[in-house]
Amino acid sequence: MYFIANWKMFGGLSTLNSLKKVIKFLKIFKKSKKIKIIYCPPNTLIRSMSKKVINSKIQVGAQNCHESLTYGASTGSINPRMLKNVGAKYVILGHSENRDSGETDKLINAKIKAATQAGLKVIFCIGETLGQKRKKITKKILSKQIIVGLQKIKKRKNIVIAYEPVWSIGTGLIPKAADLFNTINYIKKKVRNIKVLYGGSVNPKNINKLKLIKNIDGFLIGGASQDPKKFIDIIKKTYN
Ligand code: PEP
Repeated sequence: MYFIANWKMFGGLSTLNSLKKVIKFLKIFKKSKKIKIIYCPPNTLIRSMSKKVINSKIQVGAQNCHESLTYGASTGSINPRMLKNVGAKYVILGHSENRDSGETDKLINAKIKAATQAGLKVIFCIGETLGQKRKKITKKILSKQIIVGLQKIKKRKNIVIAYEPVWSIGTGLIPKAADLFNTINYIKKKVRNIKVLYGGSVNPKNINKLKLIKNIDGFLIGGASQDPKKFIDIIKKTYN
């Protein structure tokens, strides 16, 4: 199971102290070998976080990257090699908050190619909006995001998919269990041999329902991941 923390645009150097609790917990947690813990802080914290989690179970990832593998005149951008250079092992790509600011499926595809070529593992986010869900075109939308996003990428062993319904992110709402099971199943049929995680308002309360959905390979956790107690609780309850 994957437990991925997406800190979004939150956190300074002092926030890294919150990792101590999580590192300590992982040392004594019996199922520790079975889980992958990845923290994706803002880029400003990747280097310091990587140093802090050395010798622990935690790996570090970024939240986005540029689609170029080389240096270039692109103010404010960071390419995947630069992320790797400061300690990132993963990168989240296709997050709805970035799709919302104009990232297209084609651009996400270019980013996935660059990131995997640079040796980063990719957490590829897909998901439908509330309007698309109401129109009952979820599968059509996911299909396009997958087909274009993974175009001409043959080696997919370094990619995991995070299904994140946009209407669920930060809202406290989660899909009905049967819907979620069916959607994850659909994604797994469309992309063979891939891990599929769920993301969207995962918290210590709803994890008891979510953990019963047997085809989910882990969780991408936004808001709740900033609180080490909540993050630890989510992991513990998944195995209770
Ligand atoms: C996310 O941003 O990827 C996410 C899942 O956020 P939240 O858990 O806050 O809904």
